[in-house]
Amino acid sequence: MNLYVANWKMNLLRAEARAYARELGSRVADRSLEFELVVAPPFTLFDAARDAEGRWSLAAQNVAAESAGAYTGEVSASMLADAGCRYVIVGHSERRRLFSEDDATLRRKLARSREAGLVPIYCVGETEEEREAGLSTAVLTRQVQTLAQDPEEAPLVVAYEPVWAIGTGRTATPADCEAACVHVRQLLSRRQQLRILYGGSVVPGNASEILTSSGVNGFLIGGASLDPGSFAAIAGLP
Ligand code: PEP
Repeated sequence: MNLYVANWKMNLLRAEARAYARELGSRVADRSLEFELVVAPPFTLFDAARDAEGRWSLAAQNVAAESAGAYTGEVSASMLADAGCRYVIVGHSERRRLFSEDDATLRRKLARSREAGLVPIYCVGETEEEREAGLSTAVLTRQVQTLAQDPEEAPLVVAYEPVWAIGTGRTATPADCEAACVHVRQLLSRRQQLRILYGGSVVPGNASEILTSSGVNGFLIGGASLDPGSFAAIAGLP
């Protein structure tokens, strides 16, 4: 089933989140969806962003690498599960770059997520310099190795997000996406429940072309997901 994930990043306040949920709810209405919607709000907005009718699920944007204890400011995987999250974004390039999250840290975050029953949305993708140096495939291979200890039978979502396409208005071509998708699928060929998303400046105007010609199973959406109408349109809702 295709998957559309709205990553709000550090945006919106409670009243805005409630209005968003109302608007998204009215667009979904009582349609039976042939895809899955997920909203990833900041930690403070889980309750406001939740859908009482369960038409979308919640993801956290981050998770602690430790399970519990004296880690001021951190939020554990079991707390996220307890707050109603089904998914957690791990390894977003903003976390890797701005908060120095390395492969060792991400391995621990993946393990804590699994212990709590959360499904990771694990982000990979090359920077512009790596792309220009012809290293895109090698970067994906290294980043996917972080999943070596992750249980093969468990559902997994990998989001291919070229760093140069995030928030820039530039998107990867369907051919780029397809190449990344094929490579990641080969690396993870033993996985039984794998979905691959694309992320990077997806908007209603480019979503269907990428979806139909690249082999991805949906999108991780930042900027455009802040408008419930755009998020719904990317998923093909009226
Ligand atoms: C993201 O942050 O995961 C993302 C894809 O952002 P944007 O859609 O704004 O490029």
